[in-house]
Amino acid sequence: METKKCPFCGGVMVKGKSPQEGYSLYFWKAPWKKDLKGAISGTVKAYPWLCLDCGAVIPYVEERELQKVRAEYEEARLGGGV
Ligand SMILES: [Zn+2]
Repeated sequence: METKKCPFCGGVMVKGKSPQEGYSLYFWKAPWKKDLKGAISGTVKAYPWLCLDCGAVIPYVEERELQKVRAEYEEARLGGGV
């Protein structure tokens, strides 16, 4: 089970089982995207994490997805896209 530290209260956060449950889906789309070319396609999904101490639910993007977003950001930035 994956855990991380809550940015609000420093408590223990536990990762949710699925990125989508019912109709709630957290995602993010790169502002520099004009087409589906590049490492990330369309939207980046985020997993909800629950803090067991303060009850906050925060969506986080997985580290391996983040790496792709960072790579694309650098490309877009160097290309004058951002
Ligand atoms: Zn908390």
